[in-house]
Amino acid sequence: QGKKQGGSKGGKQHELAITTRAEDYPKWYQDVVRFGELAEPAKVVKGCMVIRPHGYAIWEKIQRDLDARFKNTGHRNAYFPLLVPQSFIMKEAEHIEGFAPELAVVTHAGGQELEEPYVIRPTSETIIGHFFAKWIDSHRDLPLKINQWANVMRWELRTRMFLRTTEFLWQEGHTAHATHEEAIEETLQMLHVYGDFAEEVLAVPVTRGIKTASERFAGALETYCIEAWMQDGKALQAGTSHDLGQNFGKAFDVKFQNEAGDLEHVWQTSWGVSTRLIGGLVMTHSDDDGLVLPPRVAPIHAAIIPIFRKAHEKERVMEAAERLKEQLSAIDIAPERARYRDFLEVVIDDRDMRPGAKFYDWERRGVPMRIELGPKDLDKGQVCMKMRVDTPACSGKQFLPEAEFLGSVRQRLLDYQDALLAAAKARRAANTVTLDTWEEFEATFAGDESKFAWCHWDGTAETEAAIKDKTKVTIRCVPLEGQGPAAEPGTCIFSGKPSKQRVLMAKAY
Ligand code: AMP
Repeated sequence: QGKKQGGSKGGKQHELAITTRAEDYPKWYQDVVRFGELAEPAKVVKGCMVIRPHGYAIWEKIQRDLDARFKNTGHRNAYFPLLVPQSFIMKEAEHIEGFAPELAVVTHAGGQELEEPYVIRPTSETIIGHFFAKWIDSHRDLPLKINQWANVMRWELRTRMFLRTTEFLWQEGHTAHATHEEAIEETLQMLHVYGDFAEEVLAVPVTRGIKTASERFAGALETYCIEAWMQDGKALQAGTSHDLGQNFGKAFDVKFQNEAGDLEHVWQTSWGVSTRLIGGLVMTHSDDDGLVLPPRVAPIHAAIIPIFRKAHEKERVMEAAERLKEQLSAIDIAPERARYRDFLEVVIDDRDMRPGAKFYDWERRGVPMRIELGPKDLDKGQVCMKMRVDTPACSGKQFLPEAEFLGSVRQRLLDYQDALLAAAKARRAANTVTLDTWEEFEATFAGDESKFAWCHWDGTAETEAAIKDKTKVTIRCVPLEGQGPAAEPGTCIFSGKPSKQRVLMAKAY
């Protein structure tokens, strides 16, 4: 099967070539995911996908880094049931209104109709609220800071691998606090944990901001988000952090005795990122040759391709390849003070295929570094290496003395990580515009086109809805300070009414 996709005939004219972005962007994305062996649609289960080992390994790396960040900020992991009594979902009015259309409900079990149906969790505020009420009595029990790694289900109509599936993997943080100030601080802290993670680990630049009322999480006072720019100009909501106020505290009667001895409802937050991040990662970096992965989440960092013709050469080259693999595997690229080690993952590709076909195969899987090792290289004591994507620091094939290569490999990968972030930022900047007239706006968003556009908005839901209706463009966020143009008043791009500041507009996934 590896051979089929790698193209045993080799060459880019192979019948399983990746569709280019210019040809058909959605098809390109599907091809990159499929040929990169990240996932495939489950088909037999509506809207679900199968995450293949190469894709799941990325999720494991995402989990490992985020989990460390959550623990560094004082959260602990717990696990709650997959099934939630239907009555729980009904308790918070806005929550039920928002989630009702997306619920999958279990009505039968053990061959019998259930007295009360269960919903498959679309998110866990309700069941966690129920247990918070049991666990919290006094201000001494606060803050309570829990995270859950889990799967959830939302019956989405239009699905796309990773970006929007009916079942997805995620983490959901849930915290309870004594004051609103503290809850807001927590909400913002976790937003920045997400933003920093996206930029430092995924090399995906994001805009941090606040959602408008119409895009807010069902039951929240305020939703903060990170928005990422995709190569087709659309935005991807890559993570959310909600200030829930006392809405769920009241619905589930989560009370605590404050220092003065009075009973008060707790202030809660929730925040989550999902396997959608992998879709964003793919759409940020990949090219017409397939997947491109930053080293911090790449399941495999380097592929060694042994090059030989004769049997005696093979033995010598394979021996050297094994030695090199061992030396590389001892290199740790984890950031300083990380709670984990990140040793290089190296494969030796000794399949019976032409080297060209192997290069092609590893390219499609986004492996950052390719190493070719042949008898001539061994004679010269050198290594021939090439990065998946050319960067200002390293382009094309490099021939390096082995010791110099081993000494520089860690830095090369980190430089590559930085270069991918810089390239993604440059692409986003080149596709970000400031618009002031409706004519410009309509031209920018004609047909299927999209960009990141900073525009004035009068702050009303009517204008927001009218813009969406006419152009499919939505307000992605009101930027936090420093995340967009300085907040200066102006006139709304649609209504001409006064506006407090520019907001980020784009079509979205
Ligand atoms: P929410 O609970 O709606 O704020 O969503 C939490 C996180 O899950 C956000 O980062 C969303 O981008 C992501 N998400 C929401 N719906 C889906 C879906 N159907 N598939 C994958 N990720 C999703």
